Amino acid sequence: MNDADPEWPVPGINPDVPSTARVYDALLGGRDNFKADREAAEVFAHLIPQVREAARLNRSALIRGVQYMVRRGGIDQILDIGCGLPTEQNTHEAAQDINPDTRVVYVDNDPMVLSHGRALLADNRTTTVVTADLRDPARILEHPEVRDHLDFDRPIGVVIVGMIMQISDDEDPDAIIAELMKPLASGSHLLLTAWPDTGDPAQHGLSQACLETLGNGWIRPIERLEGHFQGMPMVPPGLEYVSRWYPEDPDRTVPELADFEPYEHTQMAGIAVKP
Ligand code: SAM
Repeated sequence: MNDADPEWPVPGINPDVPSTARVYDALLGGRDNFKADREAAEVFAHLIPQVREAARLNRSALIRGVQYMVRRGGIDQILDIGCGLPTEQNTHEAAQDINPDTRVVYVDNDPMVLSHGRALLADNRTTTVVTADLRDPARILEHPEVRDHLDFDRPIGVVIVGMIMQISDDEDPDAIIAELMKPLASGSHLLLTAWPDTGDPAQHGLSQACLETLGNGWIRPIERLEGHFQGMPMVPPGLEYVSRWYPEDPDRTVPELADFEPYEHTQMAGIAVKP
């Protein structure tokens, strides 16, 4: 942990057990992680040589998706669930660069995200962070700070990036997303990234490494990933591999699948709009 840690020790944190948020932070080159997290990141890097590139690819989808929602989708309030620890460019920065009035609520179930987020956002009145779990969508929707910060009578951009693969089939990710989107206004967006299973060895390697190290990280057939979007209309180009996904420029010339690096087969992104 670095010296700039705002509130240490943070209740509920066990520095000896790697957490997804901190391992991901280590993979992105951040400093908000412990030895156990860095060791887990090394295990990943050993099992999946391009795991750092994969983490950065996921980040690029997050930023592109947020930029689309704010610039093209008319979204000025965002609920970013499983937001992770603050890093180089965050959702609120990408959004507020385009529209400084964009309101953002970050949600994560890791208490370290709350303490670091609060420190980062101390002077930002349009952005806040709360601790809650995607597996309990009712609690997120009823959370007083979420209610205070976001106007549920107007469209909200929901961000679930780099985390739906952490919800098991038994926990029913589609039912969770349906419950979350149900009370939202027409025009609300869902930005989501997920891990496909098309039989590609890189996909299986990434999933296996996550399951072994963190106990979650499920890949799913593309039809299952499409199901996460609840049948809502998709913004072009639809659900696509991140290296080919440019929602603000869907006609752009993109690489062929055959030219992909192995890690580029591991992540897909999409945005759907609630009718
Ligand atoms: N969304 C960020 C991104 O894509 O760069 C961070 C992704 S990070 C791989 C996954 C984050 O989801 C972690 O911060 C973890 O704590 C959080 N997370 C995992 N399961 C969660 C759950 N059930 N509810 C809320 N957050 C969760």
